[in-house]
Amino acid sequence: MLALQGDFHAHAAVLAELGCAPRAVRTAAELEGLDGLVMPGGESTAMLRLMAAEDLGARIRERVRGGMAVLATCAGVILLADTVTPPQPSLGLLAVDVLRNAYGRQPQSTVTTVELAPALGAPARLEGVFIRAPRITGTGSDVEVLGRRGADPVLVRQGRILGATFHPELSRDRRVHGLFVTMAEDAQGRAAQAASRRGA
Ligand code: GLN
Repeated sequence: MLALQGDFHAHAAVLAELGCAPRAVRTAAELEGLDGLVMPGGESTAMLRLMAAEDLGARIRERVRGGMAVLATCAGVILLADTVTPPQPSLGLLAVDVLRNAYGRQPQSTVTTVELAPALGAPARLEGVFIRAPRITGTGSDVEVLGRRGADPVLVRQGRILGATFHPELSRDRRVHGLFVTMAEDAQGRAAQAASRRGA
């Protein structure tokens, strides 16, 4: 988990429950050897500042291009997006346009139904906890929409990046984290195959 700021502890608890061995990432060196990275909710502007010190953005970009899986929630989606409104720097790894705080600020934060695509299995909905959430206003052609709040995409996948504008770590449904774990295992399998091809 990217552990600079935000609710990474809640993600760690869910991943441990699913049998993973989560660890905190605060430096570029701590990214080494990871099959998957959680970029948690929090405050994207604060995270950007904290990431700059270690040039973590560039390192995350390299690792994602090399196949590492990512689960980005809320502020994490803002950090990965192609474009952010109001404008702020982002990694441009997920082909979505986002509008920050688009559903209102803290008092308008809400728990509401997310309608799921069949890929997530039954039931076809889950409870979405939205906290000063960004709104996805546009998606690129490589982006698969796996969940919607009304007409808005709120759970998206592109390659091994899974992005949720809500907080699945705060609900009981484990399907979003379960899908991320499958994607990270896939990344691990590919890395092992590549190593054995090299005769390692
Ligand atoms: N509003 C926050 C931001 O713009 C995101 C909120 C969250 O991650 N829960 O970064």
